[in-house]
Amino acid sequence: MKTHAPAANSSSSSPSAAPTAEPPLDCLIVGAGPAGLTAATYLARFHRRAVVVDAGKSRARWIPKSHNCPGFPFGVSGTELLDKLRAQATGYGAEIVDGCVARLERDGDVFVATAQDGMRWRATFVLIATGIVDAMPSMPGLEDAIARNVIRMCAVCDAYEASDDRIAVYAPVDVAISHAVFLRTFSRNVVAVRSEPGEPTEANAALAKQARVSVLPVATSLEHDGRCCVFKLEDDSVHRFDTVYPVLGCNAQSDVAMMLGAAVDENQELLADEKQQTNIDGLYAIGDIVTGLNQISVAVGHAAIAATAIHNRLPRNFREDPEAQPATAADLPSP
Ligand SMILES: Cc1cc2nc3c(=O)[nH]c(=O)nc-3n(C[C@H](O)[C@H](O)[C@H](O)COP(=O)(O)OP(=O)(O)OC[C@H]3O[C@@H](n4cnc5c(N)ncnc54)[C@H](O)[C@@H]3O)c2cc1C
Repeated sequence: MKTHAPAANSSSSSPSAAPTAEPPLDCLIVGAGPAGLTAATYLARFHRRAVVVDAGKSRARWIPKSHNCPGFPFGVSGTELLDKLRAQATGYGAEIVDGCVARLERDGDVFVATAQDGMRWRATFVLIATGIVDAMPSMPGLEDAIARNVIRMCAVCDAYEASDDRIAVYAPVDVAISHAVFLRTFSRNVVAVRSEPGEPTEANAALAKQARVSVLPVATSLEHDGRCCVFKLEDDSVHRFDTVYPVLGCNAQSDVAMMLGAAVDENQELLADEKQQTNIDGLYAIGDIVTGLNQISVAVGHAAIAATAIHNRLPRNFREDPEAQPATAADLPSP
């Protein structure tokens, strides 16, 4: 696949000021996590011109080792998975550019994206794969705590590995109770630790009682020693846990899509139809940024659906012009 240079290094604020001599990209992908990289592989293998722009903060980079990622029976770290997905996409000819898209506009039939450094791209379709950013607990050595699995961020992902641990969920009280009840599948010893003052609803208080989940006072500090997390609570009691799941909310990276009027849910996550298109024609969304379950397998499924839908909407690219395409199958790029 031929790669496409950005439209211009321009500081102009008008999308129509971007040079139009080159045809627009078939698709600009914003974000190179599992979703964006998988979409890039699909589009490259459909002989489409796709560029991925990435700010380099994939949520997957935090994963010490995932054990539920299909095809990795012995687990895979987030960085290893990202490296493999990147090698696969670039191996088929997709281009990945470092940058942060700050503005997205329409110029007639095409989208114009502008990065923070002024770089611009024109594209017929745009795929938003920008993910979410977790709100993290304030504690010394947070990265080390995640690497050692004493802090875990996703019960669906890795509660199996925390089976029979002493587990705490650290969150506003109703959220803490519902997550703690979910975690009771994995351990008899699960408590809810308040991250802020508040009383549970009657229904949640009953749920906690039924599931034998204790609800503890507000934490005043959280530390870890490499093997355990230690909470100090506002009543001065001290509690140790093998694993803590903080559930403190997240920041959906949907700003650029919202500039075009893309619809979001109450968490600012994008709404998409069954082909992953937002309410804006030509603007697709995949992965964690879309409302729903935040998982790698969901992100790559979204990517396959969206990339195929985009390919099918683009003008046909029948294989017949040897000048424009590699002459023989043996000349096609592959990893
Ligand atoms: C500790 C931890 C453990 C996890 N374990 C698992 C697990 O075991 N199994 C599992 O299935 N899932 C797991 N997850 C969830 C998984 O990481 C996410 O579901 C997955 O990374 C989502 O992929 P994505 O491509 O949608 O978003 P991301 O991977 O977050 O990638 C989004 C990319 O877009 C970039 N970006 C954002 N805005 C812009 C912009 N304006 N311009 C350019 N680039 C931009 C970001 O910098 C980032 O690189 C875990 C998450 C965490 C935090």
